[in-house]
Amino acid sequence: MVLQNTPSAMLSRHPATRLCGVLFCSLTLGLTALGMDHVTVRRQGKTSEAVGRVLIEAQDGGLALLARDGVLWLIPPEEKVTRTRDAAEFSSLGRDALGRGLLAELPQGFQIYSTPHYLICYDTSREYAQWCGTLFEQLYRAFHNYWTRRGVELSEPKFPLVAVVFANKAAYLRFSQSELGQAGESISGFYSLLTNRMTMYDITGADGRGGGRGVSAKINQILSQPGASRTVATVVHEATHQIAFNCGLHQRLSDCPRWFSEGIAMFFETPDLRGGAKRGWSGIGTVNPSRLERFQEFLQSRPANSLETLLRDDRRFTDAKQAVDAYAEAWALTYFLLKKHEKDYVAYLRTLSAKKTLMQDKPEQRIDEFRKAFGELPKVDAEFQRFFVKGR
Ligand SMILES: [Zn+2]
Repeated sequence: MVLQNTPSAMLSRHPATRLCGVLFCSLTLGLTALGMDHVTVRRQGKTSEAVGRVLIEAQDGGLALLARDGVLWLIPPEEKVTRTRDAAEFSSLGRDALGRGLLAELPQGFQIYSTPHYLICYDTSREYAQWCGTLFEQLYRAFHNYWTRRGVELSEPKFPLVAVVFANKAAYLRFSQSELGQAGESISGFYSLLTNRMTMYDITGADGRGGGRGVSAKINQILSQPGASRTVATVVHEATHQIAFNCGLHQRLSDCPRWFSEGIAMFFETPDLRGGAKRGWSGIGTVNPSRLERFQEFLQSRPANSLETLLRDDRRFTDAKQAVDAYAEAWALTYFLLKKHEKDYVAYLRTLSAKKTLMQDKPEQRIDEFRKAFGELPKVDAEFQRFFVKGR
């Protein structure tokens, strides 16, 4: 999951966090109010128009605008040329218009494969786009079922969920460079909070030459190999983020604690490649072997205040030296809470789902909300460690 943006989407060159800094006094507008905002933006020598709803206006005139295609524009005051509002009610772009816009933005040769909830833009084989579509829809259904059964009400996405699938890693890296930088090399797919899209590449390398059943067989064969499981897990992980941010579980650019959103994505990511590519993924909340192994290693030298540092802010996730352990601990904590304190977890989830876009909490508030849901930290931590030391 990344915050930065693609140049092709003409989003702000500024990371979201910079805009957060100036939004100390902001105004939030609901999408139910009438009026559509038209903002002319001058950025890197180009002029473009963002149409949608201004969600937040900072004191210095900076804007956060949700466009009709689901893209979040963060517009610093120096880039804003004009702003007008018409009387139209906000509506998201239809699938056809959204698809046309995506094809115009992407390099030549892309096509669209459509499923009930997804628009998959691809320049690899149609079979691979279909495999992605089946995987995503299966995940979407399972995700809804899982939370609905626990009394969490999810909403339908306001926008079709977009996935961009490149035929090969080189083209994917070229397109994603500005968002991922050097990190792109090790990331096989990502969900962007600003564009609201997933971007990835065909992990089988079966780019459709030869076509037909040969391609399906090759996809099956490649995804059945043991090494494929981490790559499939990444795709499922990013797809889970996208669903969670589009079905009301989290609000985009809200101050949802990183351990919480990552914990959910890892709870769902465990792939099941038995039976080959037809499955690709199934089951929720099975033990995630790679995260478990890492967490058990981390337990050998885990600092006494580890739970507190995980909860209070997101620093451990952004520090390259600590990130892998932070992810492992976030998975372990999520797994433990959902297995042992499900009702409390759901109540806590409701609190976090209500967080507003670009509003920042203080570390004390994060700790306090966790304590209210689960109890005092030392007690929770002791039980948490026992759970993983003594077995589940
Ligand atoms: Zn993630």
